[in-house]
Amino acid sequence: MKAAVVRDPVDGYVDIVEKTLRPLEFNEALVDVEYCGLCHTDLHVAAGDFGKVPGRIIGHEGVGRVSQLGPGVTCLKLGDRVSIAWFYGSCGHCEYCLTGRETLCRSVRNSGFTVDGAMAQQVIVDANYAVKVPAGLDPVEASSITCAGVTMYKSLIVGHTKPGDWVSVVGAGGLGNLAIQYAKNVFGARVVVVDGNPDKLAAAKALGADILINRHEVDVPAEIQRQVGGVNNAQVTSVSADAFNAAIDSLRPNGCLVAVALPQGDMKLNIAKTVLDGIQVAGSLVGTRQDLAEAFEFGAEGKVHPIVHTRKLSEVNDIIDEMKAGKIVGREVIDMSL
Ligand SMILES: [Zn+2]
Ligand SMILES: [Zn+2]
Repeated sequence: MKAAVVRDPVDGYVDIVEKTLRPLEFNEALVDVEYCGLCHTDLHVAAGDFGKVPGRIIGHEGVGRVSQLGPGVTCLKLGDRVSIAWFYGSCGHCEYCLTGRETLCRSVRNSGFTVDGAMAQQVIVDANYAVKVPAGLDPVEASSITCAGVTMYKSLIVGHTKPGDWVSVVGAGGLGNLAIQYAKNVFGARVVVVDGNPDKLAAAKALGADILINRHEVDVPAEIQRQVGGVNNAQVTSVSADAFNAAIDSLRPNGCLVAVALPQGDMKLNIAKTVLDGIQVAGSLVGTRQDLAEAFEFGAEGKVHPIVHTRKLSEVNDIIDEMKAGKIVGREVIDMSL
């Protein structure tokens, strides 16, 4: 089968190679991948930013059908449509796994990084951790909810989003377009979108964003304070430390910055402001199996439609260049049948 693997030596790109997967072990299933989205996290893996893994099959926005069951599998059956997420599996018995915070497990396994991922015609999953995709949810859209969708659904929960709140979505890319939809259509919040790309702002407007701010044209925190008196929470999806600093200054008292993107470096946090304004800062990392099941349900109900375009597996390195150049609106999803 064909698979996209991290290049050796590691240089930020992948090679499309023929690979044979090992036999299934206890509680594993084989999935014939239908679609897999390409994510900035894949770019970090391909560049060795989290540690070099040459030869690893990338991909953690996968959707496909179960085609083979290993010994002991009871929770999946042949033909089930399941997702392959960044959260591939965990130990199942630590403090975090037992208290609804399994993505923080110290023995977590990540698809396309610590185990082979879904940017391939087939992938092995841990049956206990493969979340089923509901009938009625488009599988291309499901691939994007598997990562970007659940990430933003969860980060809005982490930001304590309530109906009527003002939420800023900083960065209107693959994550941001989903943040807008979950914030508005699921949480009933009002949304300010900050980006520097007019095309992405236009896409945000089409999704129902209430206020659009081009960061090249105005002082972002001052404009947000002027228009809405600061936001209740800021969802920072932009891969820029400066965006985090501006987002802190865009909060209203008791506001919460939720860190989602992973730029290098530090954010500035004024201690007096943090104390006097009751500022909260929280990191949010993807979502649990239950978060994903809920994020899928809202997709199946039609409340959330990721912006997706299908491409061929042979185009992966072109897509990497397009993502690095900031040219992508929404998500590029590989259709394994093309
Ligand atoms: Zn992703
Ligand atoms: Zn654990």
